Amino acid sequence: MDLFAGRSILLVAMDPCNQLFLYCRAGFEQECLTECAALAKAAGLPGAGSATMQSGHVLFQPDAPGMAAQLAQRLSVREMTFARHLLAVENHDQPLTPGNRIEQLLKRFTPMAVAHKSFSSLWLGAPDSDIGKALAPLCRSLQGRLESAMQQRGWLAPDPNPKQARAEIVFLTGTTALVGISWPNNSSPWPMGIPRLRLPAGSPSRAALKLEEALIFMFTPEERKKLLAPGKTVVDLGAAPGGWSFIMLRDGLTVTAVDRANLAAEVAASPRLRHLREDGFRYRPSRPVDWLLCDMVEQPRRIADLVSLWAAEGWCRSVLFNLKLPMKKRHEELQLCRERMVAPLQKVGIRYQLRLRQLYHDREEVTGLLRLPDNPTRKQRL
Ligand code: SAM
Repeated sequence: MDLFAGRSILLVAMDPCNQLFLYCRAGFEQECLTECAALAKAAGLPGAGSATMQSGHVLFQPDAPGMAAQLAQRLSVREMTFARHLLAVENHDQPLTPGNRIEQLLKRFTPMAVAHKSFSSLWLGAPDSDIGKALAPLCRSLQGRLESAMQQRGWLAPDPNPKQARAEIVFLTGTTALVGISWPNNSSPWPMGIPRLRLPAGSPSRAALKLEEALIFMFTPEERKKLLAPGKTVVDLGAAPGGWSFIMLRDGLTVTAVDRANLAAEVAASPRLRHLREDGFRYRPSRPVDWLLCDMVEQPRRIADLVSLWAAEGWCRSVLFNLKLPMKKRHEELQLCRERMVAPLQKVGIRYQLRLRQLYHDREEVTGLLRLPDNPTRKQRL
């Protein structure tokens, strides 16, 4: 009997990753870490992490050894607010030698290639920080060569599926990198969680990019087609100069734009738009609408209360809104907003789905989506 047989199988099956790497917006590392720690605990894999200010990333280690890959699959990156993307990585601080980086990186991938047989693809990236941005040319120059070398070794699957691990490398400096894996079915749609979107031609403000990113991130193409079909109705509170209204009009929806400020002429001229120069907190629709959009610059808790009121009164079916975060205690403020938004709905038994997300195009703010699947108890008192 081979006494070592069982042990060798165990070694092969054990994942070499022992920590999570989370990409986030520079300046929001603490919020990202706090959120990750709470979700990891709730997922049964508590741990601890480190967050260096302005580094654009967080590292988190589950207490249970060898469980980082498990944790990376248990946390849903799409449900997280501050993590743009997450992966499980090995803990390695040996510097890479310029000129021999490819061989060294491949060597470090070998145990993962053994454990996962092959990868669905390869993503290279660096944190969205001052140091990380300077590493983009290095990533671009290594991508093709690393892919060819992985293909030669049979490490890249010819017909990948979304459940198959993806190989990832994160460069922290030109000579320090972490190698690891992520899962396409629990991932940002974009490397590093950064979408490369162009401002739609004719848009009057860059805010349009925020809405575009939210629509791509929050919905599948099928959901988007159904929920934002031509003919649906929208109220846009704080609409000026009109970037969000522009996207809705472009997609064939009918918009009531509420803002005392002027809208861009081309948006204001649309026959499917009505501009009301009113206070967004006082405005009430004459009949329920499909969508409430709200991008007013105001205290987040006031916006949370307004969103909750529209939902509780049945004045809209879904809300897309933006919460401008304070400079301090941002995590706490967000929790408070969440509670203020959902407590009135829970009280009267309204079903809802709430997601809060700091999008790439969000700065000191987060974007929220509140969906209200058909609720028999909704009052629609209008
Ligand atoms: N979403 C807009 C776009 O895509 O162009 C940008 C909105 S801008 C960030 C905020 C807007 O909220 C400003 O135009 C401001 O006039 C408006 N606003 C602030 N408080 C408001 C209120 N109480 N009622 C209506 N509009 C308000």
